[in-house]
Amino acid sequence: MDLGLAGKKAIVCASSKGLGRGCAEALAAAGVNLVMNARSDGPLRQAAEEIAAAHGVTVVPVAADITSEDGRAQVLDAAGEVDILVNNAGGPPPGMWYDWEREDFIRALDANMLTPIAMMKACLPGMMSRGWGRVVNITSQSVKAPIAVLGLSNSARAGLTGYVAGTARQVAGSGVTINNLLPGIHATDRAISLDTKVAQEQGISMEEAKAQRCTSIPAGRYGTAEEFGAACAFLCSQHAGFIVGQNILLDGGGVNMTL
Ligand code: NAP
Repeated sequence: MDLGLAGKKAIVCASSKGLGRGCAEALAAAGVNLVMNARSDGPLRQAAEEIAAAHGVTVVPVAADITSEDGRAQVLDAAGEVDILVNNAGGPPPGMWYDWEREDFIRALDANMLTPIAMMKACLPGMMSRGWGRVVNITSQSVKAPIAVLGLSNSARAGLTGYVAGTARQVAGSGVTINNLLPGIHATDRAISLDTKVAQEQGISMEEAKAQRCTSIPAGRYGTAEEFGAACAFLCSQHAGFIVGQNILLDGGGVNMTL
C-alpha cells in the first residue's frame, strides 16, 4: 500500500532504539525525511545513518533530552516546518504508591504529559495553516488497564490522553489528526529491564520471566518494534485522515476487554 507520505518531514522523538526507532524506520520506508532524537549521541547517529542509507531519505539526528525545554528547542529548530510528529520518551520507573512524592510526579508529568503537549503546541499551528498534519503519541496499555507498579506512568499518561481527546477534535477540521498508540509488552530494552527486575525478585531466569509474562498475552509473544512502526506509519498515512483522537492498543490481546 502506498501511504502517500513520500517527501513529507517528521520529527520522531526518542527514536535511536525501541518503539521510536520502529516508527522512524517505517516512516523512512514510506519516503519521509526525518529528524530523529535521543539523548546519547553515538547510538542516535548510528541509527540515523543506517536509516538514511537503507531508505534514501534525509535524516537529521539531534542528541538532546526531549523532556527539557532546551532539548525540545534544539529538535524543533533543526526540524523547521514538519508534517508529522511522533511523541515519545522513556517511561517513569516502577514502584509502590507510597514511594512517590510530589517531585516524582512532576518529573513523570514533565516527561510523559507536558513534553508531548509542548511539542504539539509548537507543531500544530504550522500543520493547521498548511491544512495537513499527523501526530502520534506513544503512550501505554496502562491508559486502558492500570499496571499497579507503574503508578507514575498511569497518572501522567492519563493526563496526556485527556488532553489529546479534546485537542484532537479542535484541530481535526484543519486536516490534522492526533491519535495515541498504546503498546503492550514489546521486545525492546524497556522489556528487558522489566523482565530483569522480575527475574531478580523471583529468583528465576530471564527466559522464565518472559515465558511467565507471555502466559497473559493471547498472541503468546512480545510485539516487535517493526509491527509497532508499521501501525504508526499507517496512522500517519493519507488513508488515516478520518481516524481522530483514538487510543489504539497494540498488545497481542493482553488487555482483556470488549470495547
Ligand atoms: P527503549 O527501548 O528503552 O527506547 C527508548 C528510546 O528513547 C531510546 O532511543 C532512548 O535513547 C530514548 N529516550 C529515552 N528517554 C529520552 C529522553 N528523555 N529524551 C530523548 N530520548 C530519550 O523504550 P521503548 O520500549 O521503545 O519504550 C518507548 C515508550 O513506550 C516508553 O515511554 C515506554 O514506557 C513505553 N512503553 C513501552 C512498552 C514496551 O513493552 N516496550 C510497553 C508500554 C509502554 P537515549 O537513552 O539515548 O535517550
